[in-house]
Amino acid sequence: MKFSWLTEKTGQSERRDVMNCRTAEGMVNGYINHELSLKELEEFLDHIQTCSSCYDELETYFIVHEAMQQLDDNDSGSVMDFKRLLEQDIRKSRRYIRKKKLGRFSVGVLLCILIVALAAFMVYVVMQMIRII
Ligand SMILES: [Zn+2]
Repeated sequence: MKFSWLTEKTGQSERRDVMNCRTAEGMVNGYINHELSLKELEEFLDHIQTCSSCYDELETYFIVHEAMQQLDDNDSGSVMDFKRLLEQDIRKSRRYIRKKKLGRFSVGVLLCILIVALAAFMVYVVMQMIRII
């Protein structure tokens, strides 16, 4: 459960599987610019979900980034709810991770089937050769 970590956050306990705040802060820009690797993205999302100070940090950068983009778009009429936009973006990232992982899993399964099929084929060929001899 993530909550146990949340309560001991003030103690700055550094478990190996939990990203620390400094690393997370360094990734904020990477997240916004979509430059994080899948693993980094996942760890980053896990961290900001349990760490409100890093989430605030991300939110600030995200709002600035989105506001700048809106200026570029010259779409003065659209006042957007940036906080909701960020939540949507995080959900999208989560879905992206799930999809990628599933894709990787499928490739692994497919590869296994291929190897098994190949092995079976080799066995079949060898059997045939034995029969011929
Ligand atoms: Zn943090």
